[in-house]
Amino acid sequence: MSPPKGEMILVTGGAGYIGSHTIKALLSRGYEVVALDNLSVGHREFVLCEEFVEADLLDREALERVFREYPIRSVIHFAARTAVGESVENPEIYYYNNVVGTLNLLSAMRKRGVEEIVFSSSAAVYGDPEQIPIPEDHPKRPKSPYGRTKLMMEEVLADYARAYGIGYVALRYFNAAGSDPEGVIGEWHDPETHLIPIVLEAALGVRDYVEIFGTDYPTPDGTCIRDFIHVVDLAEAHVLALERLREGRASPAYNLGTGVGHSVRKVIEVCREVTGREIRVVEGPRRPGDPPALVADPTKAEQELGWEPRFTELEEIVATAWEWMLKLYGHR
Ligand code: UDP
Repeated sequence: MSPPKGEMILVTGGAGYIGSHTIKALLSRGYEVVALDNLSVGHREFVLCEEFVEADLLDREALERVFREYPIRSVIHFAARTAVGESVENPEIYYYNNVVGTLNLLSAMRKRGVEEIVFSSSAAVYGDPEQIPIPEDHPKRPKSPYGRTKLMMEEVLADYARAYGIGYVALRYFNAAGSDPEGVIGEWHDPETHLIPIVLEAALGVRDYVEIFGTDYPTPDGTCIRDFIHVVDLAEAHVLALERLREGRASPAYNLGTGVGHSVRKVIEVCREVTGREIRVVEGPRRPGDPPALVADPTKAEQELGWEPRFTELEEIVATAWEWMLKLYGHR
């Protein structure tokens, strides 16, 4: 079934890491897309659709204008602040951007009768897991303001669904990683806080070493375990979730991960293999707020959405991240 013409999908945060990859996936399926981003962390050149609006979700006027000007049928909402550590230090930015921003978006949608939204949520809603892998109905005890903003918005969406008939899906990402294998767009955060790009920067020599945050966790090698999911697989899941939502058969939330966990030490080892370079490691203390292990149970997304991650091996994920990084830093 080809997407209906004359109906657009609004992608907020369309200049960001996961948003830009999702726009690429939507365009390849023939969807018409308008991107919105305040460019606080995103990159204008990553927006591959023609229609782009530079605006902030805290600017209600600008938001309402977007809904008046474009024939928007559905929203995929990525725009948010995403760093756990920063949210602990400065929660105000998180509550305004992630909570107030989303409330503004929902009220602009309601004014125009737009009733479909796919929401970027996170494994951070779970907090310290009681069981691994983590199913969607696992208790939710977020450990950071970031995680709390995501959980709050899931609850708001559930209330809006009941009261106003809005249709929504929350996608709980585990650790997004890798880059577009065609090398058109990729992961680019400034400053970088994520493990794989940091390790690859150490391989490239743009940083001297990688610090392991904690080697005394109750895991086989003492370092944290994470479930790395390729950004292209995440993008694909958004398209599938939107289609399921349109059929009126979507569940409120889906975990998006591979179901396999890798330790921080393992990630560094794989980065050494893929790059063939030296990577200096320094062992440091734990980073506050990090759960020892986060691994998804992705069964529901696989069964209900028909989602099948393509990049199941960590080596493949790291290889696409490395190709992109060589390009980003101009082949050193
Ligand atoms: N990590 C690390 N050194 C770094 C960055 C991250 O040891 O320089 C660890 C971090 O403590 C966590 C894992 O790598 O256990 C993944 O961290 P990241 O920030 O990439 O993602 P998060 O799990 O916080 O979403």
